[in-house]
Amino acid sequence: LPSYWWISEKINASETAVAYREIRVLNKNIEDYDTLRIYLSQKITPGGYWWFFPKGPRKVNIGLGVQGGRGLNPIRIFYKHIVPRKVLKGSKIVSYGSGVVPTRKPLKTLAFSNVLIVGDAAFTANPIHGGGIGPSLTSAWAASKAIVNALELGMISTETLWIANKLYIEAYGAKQGSLDFLRIFLQRLSDNDLNYIIEKKVISDDEFLEVSTTGDLRLSLVEKMLKAIKFIRRTSLLFKLRILADYMKKAKQHYMAYPNNPGDLPKWESKLLKLYREFESKLSIT
Ligand SMILES: Cc1cc2nc3c(=O)[nH]c(=O)nc-3n(C[C@H](O)[C@H](O)[C@H](O)COP(=O)(O)OP(=O)(O)OC[C@H]3O[C@@H](n4cnc5c(N)ncnc54)[C@H](O)[C@@H]3O)c2cc1C
Repeated sequence: LPSYWWISEKINASETAVAYREIRVLNKNIEDYDTLRIYLSQKITPGGYWWFFPKGPRKVNIGLGVQGGRGLNPIRIFYKHIVPRKVLKGSKIVSYGSGVVPTRKPLKTLAFSNVLIVGDAAFTANPIHGGGIGPSLTSAWAASKAIVNALELGMISTETLWIANKLYIEAYGAKQGSLDFLRIFLQRLSDNDLNYIIEKKVISDDEFLEVSTTGDLRLSLVEKMLKAIKFIRRTSLLFKLRILADYMKKAKQHYMAYPNNPGDLPKWESKLLKLYREFESKLSIT
């Protein structure tokens, strides 16, 4: 697409996940087969995670994603680190597949001239886990509403299709925009720091659930921990978490103030990019 089209933004490899997964039938029943498991490890899956999603007592969707741009091959990692696990011994492969998923903020607009972009092409997948089926459908729903609007008005243009952006952002995009800051943070976090956050419940189970469903990060413990001397060795991590929560909030608010008119988009975008620059510089100097 011509580069001056607002929908032609190129994606950086580091804003993608390269994923591979297999569906396998195991030779033994899975304990707790109604539990989905996600394992974050910078050693096994740098910048990503591996998953174990039972599809019944014996069938499992098992796979992994790693951050793009690092020259890593997810199939090789899968066969080195996941396949030798005891649980897969004697299992049979039913199907397999691989691909690249966008894991970033949404495209700045779904509409331009007489074109609408939806799904992975509009970078709608979740920046944290790469789940992209739901948000693809949400963006398609927003696009269909915009098409009806344009046809009713009797003119197809950026202006008459613009409503797709508002609908998508309210339904998913604002949360996605906020989670992109969490993605940047997590991809820099060591396994040690991550274990610390989980073991010490720096972010509680409820807060994890809340951030994944709403994009809002509440840190009820962090302020208290920053005042307590016994956590002195972890103050840098705690300060960074505070910065993260602050910027996730700012990002969500910025998305909720998405322009009503296409003409205001360049200003809105430059403010968004400024938030990213500030966030990244604050994280590296703290
Ligand atoms: C290994 C892996 C596992 C995943 N697991 C999950 C999961 O468990 N849950 C989840 O929610 N998401 C998952 N995702 C992400 C999810 O698959 C995508 O986000 C989702 O499929 C995006 O839907 P889409 O319609 O935008 O794009 P796609 O599903 O990629 O559909 C685009 C279609 O367009 C076709 N096409 C491309 N070019 C042309 C052309 N020039 N002309 C005509 N047709 C064309 C393609 O063949 C394709 O069929 C996974 C991705 C990968 C790679």
